[in-house]
Amino acid sequence: MLGLSQILLTVIVVIAVWRGYRWWDGVRRRERARLDRMRRAVMGEGGGREAEPDPGPAPGPQGRTEDTIRCPVCRTYMPVRGAGRCDRSDCPFPG
Ligand SMILES: [Zn+2]
Repeated sequence: MLGLSQILLTVIVVIAVWRGYRWWDGVRRRERARLDRMRRAVMGEGGGREAEPDPGPAPGPQGRTEDTIRCPVCRTYMPVRGAGRCDRSDCPFPG
């Protein structure tokens, strides 16, 4: 037969376990959101795509990718150091 103190103890234990689970779940959610933000920041805008590696300016067989980078929008090669944006508004290069 359960006494009042045992019932109370059971309730306290259940609440403690529940709160601990909620806390742990929150920590995991925050960590996952942080990793997601980091991955998104690394990948650039990453609109909608999930866990897909950014192809980026893949080194082609032309052998010119050492010093030049190809703009995926305007499709022109420009020097990596002085890569300036073209006249297109969606050009990914800054400056
Ligand atoms: Zn461009």
